[in-house]
Amino acid sequence: MKRRDFIKKAGGGTLLATGLAAAAPTLMAAPQFRWKMVTTWPKNFPGLGTGANKLAKLITEMSGGRLRVKVYGAKELVPAFEVFDAVSRGTAEMGHGAAYYWKGKSEAAQFFAAVPFGLNAQEMNGWLYYGGGMKLWQELYARFNLVPSPAGNTGVQMGGWFNKEINSLKDLKGLKMRIPGLGGEVLKRAGGTPVNLPGGELYTSLQSGAIDATEWVGPYNDLAFGLYKAAKYYYYPGWHEPGTTLEAIINQKALAALPKDLQTIVLNACKVVNQDMLAEYTARNNAALHTLITKHKVELRQFPDDVLKKLRQLSDEVVAEIAAKDKFTSKVYRSFKQFRDEAMAWHRISEQAYLRAREM
Ligand code: CA
Repeated sequence: MKRRDFIKKAGGGTLLATGLAAAAPTLMAAPQFRWKMVTTWPKNFPGLGTGANKLAKLITEMSGGRLRVKVYGAKELVPAFEVFDAVSRGTAEMGHGAAYYWKGKSEAAQFFAAVPFGLNAQEMNGWLYYGGGMKLWQELYARFNLVPSPAGNTGVQMGGWFNKEINSLKDLKGLKMRIPGLGGEVLKRAGGTPVNLPGGELYTSLQSGAIDATEWVGPYNDLAFGLYKAAKYYYYPGWHEPGTTLEAIINQKALAALPKDLQTIVLNACKVVNQDMLAEYTARNNAALHTLITKHKVELRQFPDDVLKKLRQLSDEVVAEIAAKDKFTSKVYRSFKQFRDEAMAWHRISEQAYLRAREM
């Protein structure tokens, strides 16, 4: 059917034309927004960088192009560890990274990424969305003109890459290891030297001997960086990062300047990516672990029980001490700890009991 005929049959061209004319000014006047998203990840890095890309694409598509978000990898606009400041002052409207990188701003930030022997991915989401965590996170970041949102989770990470075996706590003494956040503080307490380096610098630092060991994420990401070429042993479990939450940070003013529907789109796109990334890691880690072992002959090692036990004791001390440093961190710690105690009681008879039964 020709268009002209269709319009006639649809009940009068005049009415339709009038309707379009009336709608046109509104459509033309709809404001367009262009946002920059800076990230702490190398551009397009599997899982983390591609998660940020997905977030930008979702917002752009869900808004019908009214809000277009362009992603910048680490160093493209600002260096990895300047993402927080860049979004805080409005150089970029949005950022993607992990809250433990910002412990220099507040010790409390680390609780919103990962706590050694803390919450796993499922529990982090429970605490943040339904256990009071989000309210505390928002309160903290409001001081920096930022609105936070969970925007990805790696699941439980690996313990890291080492060139010597870790048979007792003594083997951690003097060890120079890349390990960020509270995990780094625990390593320091165990006699090691923690360093914080952006992901993009890990391989060369390990290869050149500038560091003795490094952790990064898990099989999927560690394979992508080729870390197996620079270290012999691959240790588990990732006691220091049991389910790391990645974050989206949004400049408060930029978010407030959006119409309500676009604000809803931005925050819900973060929620979608938060779930999507965990699903991706769960699937891709399986395949990557297989490749690391069969193709690259990586030697898997489990931290001995007594090392883990000691690290857990040190972690409890370190976390409690850091929490006592200021009133707000103490408030976050109490909320986190109460949730962890309750989650442990429930998961002992649910997830944990089930995983054990599955191995029988
Ligand atoms: Ca890590």
